[in-house]
Amino acid sequence: MEKQISILGSTGSIGTQALDVVRSHGLSVYALAANHHIDLLEKQTREFHPKRICIFDTACYPELKRRLFDLPVEILCGMEGLCEIAGDPHADILLNSVVGMVGLLPTLTAIDAGIDIALANKETLVAGGSLVMKRAAQQGVKIYPVDSEHSAIFQCLQGNQRSQLHKIILTASGGPFFGMTRAQLRTVKAADALRHPNWDMGNKITIDSATLMNKGLEFIEAKWLFDLEPEQIEIVVHRQSVIHSAVEFQDLAVIAQLGVPDMKIPIQYALLYPERLPCPTKPLSLTDYRTLTFEKPDLETFSCLKTAISAIRIGGTAPCIMNGANEVAVAAFLEGQIGFLDIGTLAEQAVEKIEAIEIRSYEDVMRADTEARTFVRETIARGDL
Ligand code: MG
Repeated sequence: MEKQISILGSTGSIGTQALDVVRSHGLSVYALAANHHIDLLEKQTREFHPKRICIFDTACYPELKRRLFDLPVEILCGMEGLCEIAGDPHADILLNSVVGMVGLLPTLTAIDAGIDIALANKETLVAGGSLVMKRAAQQGVKIYPVDSEHSAIFQCLQGNQRSQLHKIILTASGGPFFGMTRAQLRTVKAADALRHPNWDMGNKITIDSATLMNKGLEFIEAKWLFDLEPEQIEIVVHRQSVIHSAVEFQDLAVIAQLGVPDMKIPIQYALLYPERLPCPTKPLSLTDYRTLTFEKPDLETFSCLKTAISAIRIGGTAPCIMNGANEVAVAAFLEGQIGFLDIGTLAEQAVEKIEAIEIRSYEDVMRADTEARTFVRETIARGDL
């Protein structure tokens, strides 16, 4: 069973860990795509010999081509190249680990081509969840969650009947600012937010973890992946990130999935499902932890989470609007243009001020996304915060 794997976002945190899994099992890489890290993409191409690669940033294309002239690899670029790889039926599974809304079109392209997806791009489901899940069902395409929480829920559901699921318990680490007040959060800087206690991740998701928007995105992601009502999702802050999430059935039995906080476990499960082969990580020692703690999330201090929950209740394009606003706000925070709490304010204002409509097409999603981004850019430019 030689699975051919294509990876979008191969030089990012999830992509490089996926390649650790690929390396440890001698799997085949069919195609790789990266945003702009040509040094690492070149190195990966020389090690894994993909048939096709793509560099999203078209400005890097000539240099990449020059460097790899000696290899028989087809080199593509831009969104067109990304979708070309996403929809290439030579792959048995596509790992989509690009960051942000940019992952939506490749996801839809893979679904239309009938390729199963290991999905690490949560913005895809947040912005276009109804579209993605409906199309995947029509095409008989399987979507395997890569996010540790959703992988945990998926694992807990194995061997049980989905119809007997009562609710899920989505765990949250609480991020680096857990327990802080809004007054304290007002002055935090990007460097403070980029220090996450448990997980080693890219910049965007690390900021999302600090604002708890990441948990909000995951709340919406869980709704779509497991066809849940918002009332069936309970968020519990669990600082140690040992219990990756849990499922409660109708008989009130609760099944949880545990492990060290290492993304290689959920990545490998998604890529090799239903196999459980040795994973290149550490074993869990519960006695090393001694104590596991559980608390309610603070929705007033971390308003992003509250906004996300209300956006999915509004439905239609509301989560897409929130996501687009958040992406622009996070980028502005990383550049020092706005404060930490402004991220939540901008996401909330975007959801309040931009009218949500029902999603009928990809264009509906893109229009809502553009509107949200423009709204946030203009609000920041006016200094209206
Ligand atoms: Mg997660």
